[in-house]
Amino acid sequence: MMRIIKNDTVKVISGNHTGKVGKVLKVFPKTNRIIVEKVALVKRHRKPRSQTDQGGILEKESSIHISNVLLVCPKCSQPSRTKFGTLADGKKVRVCKSCEEMVLAGE
Ligand SMILES: [Zn+2]
Repeated sequence: MMRIIKNDTVKVISGNHTGKVGKVLKVFPKTNRIIVEKVALVKRHRKPRSQTDQGGILEKESSIHISNVLLVCPKCSQPSRTKFGTLADGKKVRVCKSCEEMVLAGE
């Protein structure tokens, strides 16, 4: 299980985008990188594809490393470190280190 998963809200704590908050759109577990909505935008030039298509500049998120972000806990609203806990039925869950509440996926 990843520390950060899709639909989490995260806060960037280091790198060029420090302080930005956004929703996780995509996670790349192999490289430990994530794409966060409106963070690390890069401009891509798009060529016109037809006579009516002007082309232009498209802004798109690029990935950032998971170590540069903290999960914003949906329970206490703090950017928090998480630990893993195990429920009685053996299911693994993430637990917020600030408020000790479980953080479920996609909340
Ligand atoms: Zn919390």
